[in-house]
Amino acid sequence: MGNRAPNCLKCEHFHVTWDPKFPRGCRVFGVKSPRMPSLVVFESTGRHCPAFSQAPRIKSVTGESDAVD
Ligand code: SF4
Repeated sequence: MGNRAPNCLKCEHFHVTWDPKFPRGCRVFGVKSPRMPSLVVFESTGRHCPAFSQAPRIKSVTGESDAVD
């Protein structure tokens, strides 16, 4: 894990909540947010999410960073 927040969109724990105000959710941390859950985790804990796990459905995707600023 680097020093950047992981990309939740590529994480198997990420899910879409369908709540228009809080569409991005993380099953590990119970986060629902309009922003990337990993950024919420970082702001809440001062540490980047340690639970990123690449989603199987996108394991074939290459050439993109797994981190977001
Ligand atoms: S486990 Fe971490 S990387 Fe995965 S969705 Fe939750 S906050 Fe994002």
